[in-house]
Amino acid sequence: RVVVGTKVDMHHVNWVTAYNMLTGIRFTVSRTNAKINRDLTDADFDARHKFSFDITGNELTPSAKYDFKFKDYAPWVFRHIRAHFKLDPADYLVSLTSKYILSELGSPGKSGSFFYFSRDYKYIIKTIHHAEHKLLRKILREYYAHIDKYPNTLLSQFYGLHRVKIPYGRKIHFVVMNNLFPPHRDIHQTFDLKGSTIGRDFKEEDLEKNPRATLKDLNWLRRNYHFEFGAEKKNVFVEQLKSDVALLQKLKIMDYSLLVGIHDLSKGNEENLRDKTLRVFQPGGDRGAEPQPNLLTRTPSKLETQRKARELRQIIKKEKPVVMEKSTSKMPDEMLEERKSFIFYSDDGGFQATHEDGEPGEEIYYLGVIDCLTHYGFIKRAEHLWKGMSNNKSQISPIPPEDYGHRFVKFITGLTKTKEQAERESRSTDQM
Ligand code: ATP
Ligand code: CA
Ligand code: CA
Repeated sequence: RVVVGTKVDMHHVNWVTAYNMLTGIRFTVSRTNAKINRDLTDADFDARHKFSFDITGNELTPSAKYDFKFKDYAPWVFRHIRAHFKLDPADYLVSLTSKYILSELGSPGKSGSFFYFSRDYKYIIKTIHHAEHKLLRKILREYYAHIDKYPNTLLSQFYGLHRVKIPYGRKIHFVVMNNLFPPHRDIHQTFDLKGSTIGRDFKEEDLEKNPRATLKDLNWLRRNYHFEFGAEKKNVFVEQLKSDVALLQKLKIMDYSLLVGIHDLSKGNEENLRDKTLRVFQPGGDRGAEPQPNLLTRTPSKLETQRKARELRQIIKKEKPVVMEKSTSKMPDEMLEERKSFIFYSDDGGFQATHEDGEPGEEIYYLGVIDCLTHYGFIKRAEHLWKGMSNNKSQISPIPPEDYGHRFVKFITGLTKTKEQAERESRSTDQM
């Protein structure tokens, strides 16, 4: 099933949520950025600030189209993290809030999380579970220390952690993070790799319907693919992966994957992305599950419906609907300047293949470790519940984070071997 990112305009069901998210981000990020920079204190990691937005505005917050509450977590820490990853503060705000246009990928995974892309596709907003939110707050010190020590980390880059809530609505937690895939390059193949074979197969026959589907471990193995890194790049990659996974193991995190996007230079951009209003995005959820019921929009109460109708009438009176013009879909021409200094993102936003002889290869890999906010305890509980319900004891049980990480590194490292190396090794194990 091909899912086209849908633009979130005011006719979209999640328009209000998206508007509130962006309004909150704009306000809180500018508020922190306006202050003179300073070193972090221990208290910065636990900081949280609550703001109320309403139609009239107050001394603290400017007026907004809707009433909502916004919570900003550890703003100074995220300001420092953004600086670490060399984001330009003004750029960040413009990308995320300019004209409020986002596109929604919907809820691709089993988790029910929603994904939104900033208008220029540089950033992703992902709604997260409360448990993931709590985890990120808990590990923030260690995450920060890690990215400080390893600027070339492959882990997801978290740029902000926030929460929105509309009156009578549920609390929605979300993170802003890096989009691993470049706005200006066509991604010809995508893989979400975990190092497991169970349930890790995208049905090959469905590829016809959906040629850009996110493929999984078994699809990769079936194609007998290998990363073509060459010796030097291979080393840098494997070492970084090991350091990153060591952190995740220590924090008892699991269920993460290596997201791999491949741009084939010989194919180039088949579709001229810049002329398209939106890119085609594939529902990735590595479990390939049916989309979950829309968690953002539950049935509103009568009161809410009335209020919303009133608000909408006011808006319609005041302004024309936001229309997405063709020109607004323009993608940045060159790769994010800020990424140039990071090894894995330095070749046109990615990591270019290198032949054994050191010559550049045909492919650019876009790589990163994603979905890294799932704690072992959370999986265990979910599993327990599920097993209790289905009464089927033979299902896959989650493996502890140590083993998960070990298996993950082993699998991915195996993919960095050349075909010859891999064949030699499998022959010698056959003989044993
Ligand atoms: P589940 O828990 O079921 O795996 P999830 O809702 O936690 O799903 P993720 O695994 O984080 O979702 O991501 C789902 C898909 O979204 C990925 O396979 C990938 O296609 C896309 N995606 C996620 N994060 C990024 C990113 N940083 N850059 C580009 N694409 C991403
Ligand atoms: Ca996942
Ligand atoms: Ca997940």
